[in-house]
Amino acid sequence: MRHRDPHDDPSTKRRPARYSAPPVTLGHIRAHGVRHLLIYCSTGLCHHSATVDADCWPDETALRDLCPKAVCTQCGMIGADARPNWQERSQRETLTGVQWRR
Ligand SMILES: [Zn+2]
Repeated sequence: MRHRDPHDDPSTKRRPARYSAPPVTLGHIRAHGVRHLLIYCSTGLCHHSATVDADCWPDETALRDLCPKAVCTQCGMIGADARPNWQERSQRETLTGVQWRR
């Protein structure tokens, strides 16, 4: 009778972790020329949104870590949807195809 190695026990075997993309960080967003974040109230009821300056957070801050910390100034709900203000970028690189980066 073979000694049972805990590693052979199927119940201890874990399925490979699902691949998840690395979190979007403020450093990544800044690398694209975006310095502001759009914060949307997560209740979906008050539709409050705000643009915040991301300069006060370090580069390694993950966008998803900021979401649970945001408090809606209108309804007081904690937890918001934070997105990079990509419009800021499109002002520099126009989407018309006339201007391309050189
Ligand atoms: Zn709100």
